[in-house]
Amino acid sequence: MSSVQIVEVGPRDGFQNIGPFIPTEVKIAMIHDLAGAGLKRMEVTSFVSPRAIPQLSDAEVVLADTLAQGKILPQVLVPNARYGLKALEAGADFLSYVFSISESHNRSNVRTSPEESLADYARLVAELPAGTRMRLNLATSFDCPFEGRTPAGRVLEFLERAFEIMPEAEICLCDTTGRGEPDQVGELFANAMERCPEVAAWAMHSHDTYGRGSENVLAAYRSGVRIFDAAIGGLGGCPYAPGASGNVATEDVVRLFGEMGVQTGVDAEALIPIARRAAALPGANAGSHCLRSLAG
Ligand code: ZN
Repeated sequence: MSSVQIVEVGPRDGFQNIGPFIPTEVKIAMIHDLAGAGLKRMEVTSFVSPRAIPQLSDAEVVLADTLAQGKILPQVLVPNARYGLKALEAGADFLSYVFSISESHNRSNVRTSPEESLADYARLVAELPAGTRMRLNLATSFDCPFEGRTPAGRVLEFLERAFEIMPEAEICLCDTTGRGEPDQVGELFANAMERCPEVAAWAMHSHDTYGRGSENVLAAYRSGVRIFDAAIGGLGGCPYAPGASGNVATEDVVRLFGEMGVQTGVDAEALIPIARRAAALPGANAGSHCLRSLAG
């Protein structure tokens, strides 16, 4: 039977867009509940400037708890080598480094060019202790809020150079705005796999802005992708991507694969009460099709 891995990104991509500070113990309790439902891999937080994203200023505490519990594989998002080194000092052993393929999105997000971010990624990779796992998130791989559709050739060029820096890194193509289309998603993954067949693992990060989150997940799956980011309750949105609504909801993706007979290892029923609690967080902007259908 075929299987996929769901990476729960709600505690990072979901929470970071919520204004009122979510008490650290509420975040930790939700991470425990998600782990209990079978989500064994999670982007638990981001090491990032607390001025830029005050919501994640408790990153060290959240990471320390998940490392102490030892129940999940916690992955930590970092926007540059400086914060990557901080995350490593705090005990992280699985980093997701993110930069945008689009010049203007990268500048608005991390105030530097994609070229400079790639060089910075290389500096971080050179410092990694043996055994540290790495995922590289190529944000705006399909569309940019400022520049429109991202030229595939530009994505493939950065991909090739990033692959050479760390061949064992997992590569995630991110539909940051949710404006990617299923044909585009399927084609870009197919071309990427052809260009860099030795990439250790491929992942897809989808947003559901136009309700195409699940379709895009399916298109990536059909191209051979087996790792999918999703956020409980469809929380999320990128504070630097105007118009980007929530991530594709974890419960929607689990349901989709369940109907296809593809194993996720996640208990679909157990997710619903957690999704309800996530959607009810003050300031949350949920976007789950499952929850809407149950409310109806
Ligand atoms: Zn995102």
